Amino acid sequence: MRGYLTTVLDNVATFWSRAYSSSGIHDDAGAVATSTVSSVLMEPGETAPDCGGGTTNPSTLAYCPGDDTIRLSIQAILADWLGQQLPGEETPHPATGEWSAIYTVAHEYAHNVQEELGVWSDMTVRQVELEADCLAGVYMRGSLDLTADIKRQEFQEVVENAGLSGDFEFRDPQHHGTPQERVDAVVLGLVAANPAQCQLQYEPSH
Ligand SMILES: [Zn+2]
Repeated sequence: MRGYLTTVLDNVATFWSRAYSSSGIHDDAGAVATSTVSSVLMEPGETAPDCGGGTTNPSTLAYCPGDDTIRLSIQAILADWLGQQLPGEETPHPATGEWSAIYTVAHEYAHNVQEELGVWSDMTVRQVELEADCLAGVYMRGSLDLTADIKRQEFQEVVENAGLSGDFEFRDPQHHGTPQERVDAVVLGLVAANPAQCQLQYEPSH
């Protein structure tokens, strides 16, 4: 699993570095953003490094801008993929398949893309999360040889996982978007296959 996730991370990095150079995506300073990010893959029972909040969690799936590092709990990814129960949780996760793993990696990597582009400061958590979903969709569409047609089953796995990731905590500053908004965001990326569409939809300055 460690090797598999490392491969997906490498593929996402390659995709975005090509997208940066070919489409000329620029950061706030006008430079073409280049992607340099580290990752930590946690084995079961291993705790993620603290991201400055003072709390750590063995099922973390997150990007930490402070140290430019993606933290992925292998156990949490497998819980979504295979439908397993995480320690401390009351019910097993629905099994949403391999694409839920790819979506998770692509979503967290998209936060690094946002960091590189310097867009975080203007955006709410909701906008950041939905744009990351959209960028994950762009990656999945562009990298997985789906140009002719998005395969139905794989598409459904992504949509199901996106829907399960939403919430209805509208008053919480950590609100990530409703399930439908998250599905819409990832579908926009899958269909548009263009990061500019994600920026247009979710960045307030556009
Ligand atoms: Zn996120």
